Amino acid sequence: MGSTVKAICKCGYEKESSVGGGMLNYRTVQYFPCYCTNCKDLVEGNLKAEPLVCPDCNSRKVIPYNNKKLIGKKGKNEIVQSFDNILTDGYYRCPSCDSFNLQFKIGAILWD
Ligand SMILES: [Zn+2]
Ligand SMILES: [Zn+2]
Repeated sequence: MGSTVKAICKCGYEKESSVGGGMLNYRTVQYFPCYCTNCKDLVEGNLKAEPLVCPDCNSRKVIPYNNKKLIGKKGKNEIVQSFDNILTDGYYRCPSCDSFNLQFKIGAILWD
């Protein structure tokens, strides 16, 4: 079972990303929003992949959004959790304007 989150920033940036994996592929697939320093964009990374690469440019310069570098202020509430990877309702670094005004909202729940 997976779900989607929507990243929204005050600057107008918006992007939806999957979190987690399906029942059949949870051993090999665990999607999580990541920041690609090459694309300068939020991408859907597969944390189970070795190495973790950007799905768009294949670069390894990809940082998952649970990394301290990308968290401006941790929120009190959990938006979504995939194993030990958590997104809160705090503030994250926006790939577009580089400020810590990016927030995650829960998107659609995907049932397998
Ligand atoms: Zn990339
Ligand atoms: Zn922004």
